[in-house]
Amino acid sequence: MLVLVVNAGSSSLKCQLIETDGKKTLVRVLGQRLGLPQATLRIDFGKGGEHVNYPGLSVVGAMQRTLRALENDADSPLSSLEEIEAIGNRIVAGGEYFSHSVQVDKEVLDKIEECSALAPLHNPAAVACIKDLKKRLPNVPQAVVFDTAFHQTMPPKAYRYALPKRYYTDYHIRRYGAHGTSHRYAANQAAHLLGRPLKDLGLITCHLGNGGSIAAVDGGRSVDTTMGFTPLEGLMMGTRSGSIDPAIITFIMRREGLTYDEMDDILNRQSGLLGVSGLSSDMREILDAAREGDEDAALARDMYMYAVQKAIGSYYAVMTRTDAVVMTAGIGENSAEMRERVFERLAHMGMILDKDKNNFVGEVGADRVVSVDDSPIKIIVITTDEELRIARETDAIVQGEVPGEIE
Ligand code: ADP
Repeated sequence: MLVLVVNAGSSSLKCQLIETDGKKTLVRVLGQRLGLPQATLRIDFGKGGEHVNYPGLSVVGAMQRTLRALENDADSPLSSLEEIEAIGNRIVAGGEYFSHSVQVDKEVLDKIEECSALAPLHNPAAVACIKDLKKRLPNVPQAVVFDTAFHQTMPPKAYRYALPKRYYTDYHIRRYGAHGTSHRYAANQAAHLLGRPLKDLGLITCHLGNGGSIAAVDGGRSVDTTMGFTPLEGLMMGTRSGSIDPAIITFIMRREGLTYDEMDDILNRQSGLLGVSGLSSDMREILDAAREGDEDAALARDMYMYAVQKAIGSYYAVMTRTDAVVMTAGIGENSAEMRERVFERLAHMGMILDKDKNNFVGEVGADRVVSVDDSPIKIIVITTDEELRIARETDAIVQGEVPGEIE
């Protein structure tokens, strides 16, 4: 099926045209700094494509330019937009309404709009794109795939915060989690690799990318995850602080007379690996600098590793069984060094890394077990591709398959 995947952010747009049967990406689109004078759009038909500056281009405007290029560009694989068979939209916040992906209709759109308070920058942009696409391609079915849906199975003891109840009832303040499609995909692939039914497995899935979260997946159901009401909670990340003492926030704001937006920027964009190292939010650069003796980079690396170890340990504690720990996303998939550092201290829990298997690069993108053969808890590396997952999920939804049973 030919699926257009649309991932609209507050100031970015990522689209891919994917052939789901051959798992082939035919077109990649990246819009950045949208809404600003420096807005750029790159449409890559497999030949690279240039970042073209369109001052002030909006997210929807970038979407429209993309459709025009798909229709008219000599390099486009399409002769008509009618060849697009389905559209899959990534949605950041589905609140408590959505526990799986669904096809878009008016009621679904209304609920996504209602959830805008939970993702004020992302949900409205996504809704605007969906509505625009509906006008342009009224006969093409659209699906929505939520970051939060997979975690709707968490029990209240995991998702509630120890705040007065009215904040939950009035403002829906609770843990929603994120990276849901990635955790679900990682769990499904791990079950395939182990040759066992997912419903019999206890898994700890670690999505370690620029953003990062870990989930406890018991019998295929998320029972806890490190990200919370927003993606700020949990692990230390590229530029996010992760969990800190909440009192630090009011302390710094009072001390420096900061506004809410300034504090938000510090926590979301100036902290994490970048804040501690003073160097970079990128793990490769951190590891390189640490190897060359940069002490702040080494501390950032160790703090990151320590946060991951603590999360894995705590999920081992809350599940009734742990069969495997699954590593995925940029750092989890690619950094043998970070995997080695994380699992060095976890062997006593029965997670025993095989250093040779861990260092073996092999075929790029191959899912594999990297623990020793008799490790009581397996360690698994799964490669993930968010757009492809959304495309496959969209394919399943529009064909009427049960969401979540497709991997
Ligand atoms: P995003 O959350 O933006 O999708 P990714 O999943 O692509 O991010 O992860 C990006 C992170 O993965 C960056 O910190 C990058 O440095 C890290 N990464 C990618 N390859 C490697 C590698 N070989 N070694 C260490 N870190 C890596």
